[in-house]
Amino acid sequence: MVDMFYYDVVIVGSGLAGLRAALEIKRTYGDKISVALISKVQLMRSHSVAAQGGTAAVLYPEEGDSFALHAWDTIKGSDFLADQDAVWLFVKLMPEEIRLLERWGLPWSRRPDGRIAQRPFGGHSFPRATYAADKTGFYEMQTLYSRLVGYDNWDRYDEVFVTSIIIEDGVFKGVTAIDMRSGEFLVFRARAGIIATGGAGRIYKFTTYAHTVTGDGQAMALRAGIPLKDMEFIQFHPTGLVPSGILITEGARGEGGYLINKNGERFMKRYAPQRMELAPRDVVSRAIMTEIREGRGFRDPVSGLEYVLLDLRHLGEEKINERLPGIREIAIKHAGIDPVTEPIPVRPAAHYSMGGIHTDKYYRVLTVDGKWVKGLWAAGEVASASIHGANRLGANSTAECLTSGRIAGRQAAQYVIKTKEMGMPDPKPSESSIAKEEKRIFDMLLKHESGSATVYEIRAKLRETMDKYVYVFRDEEGLKKALKIILELREAMKKVYPSDKSRIYNTDMITVLETQNMLDVAYSVAYGALLRTESRGAHYRIDYPKRDDENWLKHTLTYLTADDKIEVTYTPVTITTWKPIERKY
Ligand SMILES: Cc1cc2nc3c(=O)[nH]c(=O)nc-3n(C[C@H](O)[C@H](O)[C@H](O)COP(=O)(O)OP(=O)(O)OC[C@H]3O[C@@H](n4cnc5c(N)ncnc54)[C@H](O)[C@@H]3O)c2cc1C
Repeated sequence: MVDMFYYDVVIVGSGLAGLRAALEIKRTYGDKISVALISKVQLMRSHSVAAQGGTAAVLYPEEGDSFALHAWDTIKGSDFLADQDAVWLFVKLMPEEIRLLERWGLPWSRRPDGRIAQRPFGGHSFPRATYAADKTGFYEMQTLYSRLVGYDNWDRYDEVFVTSIIIEDGVFKGVTAIDMRSGEFLVFRARAGIIATGGAGRIYKFTTYAHTVTGDGQAMALRAGIPLKDMEFIQFHPTGLVPSGILITEGARGEGGYLINKNGERFMKRYAPQRMELAPRDVVSRAIMTEIREGRGFRDPVSGLEYVLLDLRHLGEEKINERLPGIREIAIKHAGIDPVTEPIPVRPAAHYSMGGIHTDKYYRVLTVDGKWVKGLWAAGEVASASIHGANRLGANSTAECLTSGRIAGRQAAQYVIKTKEMGMPDPKPSESSIAKEEKRIFDMLLKHESGSATVYEIRAKLRETMDKYVYVFRDEEGLKKALKIILELREAMKKVYPSDKSRIYNTDMITVLETQNMLDVAYSVAYGALLRTESRGAHYRIDYPKRDDENWLKHTLTYLTADDKIEVTYTPVTITTWKPIERKY
């Protein structure tokens, strides 16, 4: 039995981007538009709650900040791969987002004079990371959600796992899903869809990301014939706590923390003499890995992971408690280290996907030929507009979740109204697309050839492979090995079925579906990285250490062919204001 729902707008994902989109629809059109907000976890458990350090916005032009400066920092940070028109739109919308959150009750940290405080962040030439201690994402989620509950005519679907995006004749028709509690197959028909499913950090083993961040949205897009943009650009955050990978926010360096090697040296002076620890993340991560490769790191005897130290001791207990309470708690609980008295062991951890679903600057989802898939938007980390290009600046992601949610939400609502006025009937996905997806999922429960023990092995092997060959430093040999392993795992995965054959809370089945998704995403990342024979932003090729604007100032698009292979094509970068120059910090 297939349960059918109809909503004007269906939003997949209830992180910052999804919540902001829902709120935009409600605060502008109220009850007029019905919204379904779907999340595979309880709504407030979306990864966004873990965001720590801050959200970038220009708040103090009288003190020297400006839109042009924020845009320039972002574009230089992106190693000139960002689309500059998208960046301008982003920086201009941001200040109002901070003020709206303020009005809705977000307790931003304050300056002594009571005005909103901002802290320095990597690659920003003005301290413009707006924060609420080191729990910024938590407060942002809480504020958006508490605002949203004041509105009617929207429903939340928690623990509902979306499996496919239905597009027919270039028009969005709805999504299919599994209600995890009952195991029922659901179809959400909708005029407009907003995909806000977040990143794909879990394709790596050493990552700051929650277990749920498995790239489902990216993989669903691929299966629906939508290309992914710039997937080879994965951000490695310089300071993942060893051995777990839990994030130690850049705010720790923003507040004045130092990085030191085995010789007690502040090594960043050799890599970024001006910005030091507050150079952009790609620069700092490469510096740490160079120290480690040249023998100036430490080794954790249990995990075998090599690391450097993040020293906060000189900040003093009072400042650490006030500005970085969460970091102190994490270090004590997860590494047995109190940063007040001991430095913290850190190494680069997979942290962010610069790439994602191919969209224009209004977050409209595009096909390989650049045509809009009518009725479909993507917002937040899953989308690539592209603001972050080859390397995202810290504090720009939560910011983009807000602006993209706002733009996508507003546009989706307007589209619904327009199509209704034009008398277009409610969308009806064809029975064959529904039946096909139902079969893809539920046939697995009938098959017994191979148990799912292997799915956990496949997932582990994939994540180790990505850590080993598609990490901070890459080369042709390693990337080819990675690709070969990913393709083998993908083949092996075709014969893996869940051992649990029940319908109720079948997490075994969800793991199978997620792992299939992770493999497709990893395939895009590794393939894009192999073909890009240059170094730009977070993508560093030891065998091609220079940026090559002549051949590579372009976005990679990866898409899935009918015979289940990834193909690659390219699309130009929009440059409106600044020509690429050498990037120094
Ligand atoms: C530890 C940590 C700290 C960070 N700190 C900062 C910071 O200080 N500043 C900053 O700018 N950025 C920060 N980032 C990055 C930023 O937080 C994320 O990029 C951003 O929150 C992503 O938000 P999102 O709404 O796109 O997705 P998420 O918050 O990841 O939400 C994704 C949603 O999609 C749902 N979903 C996914 N797949 C499915 C499916 N198949 N079916 C149904 N639902 C699905 C999930 O349930 C969830 O609701 C941090 C990231 C991490 C991991």
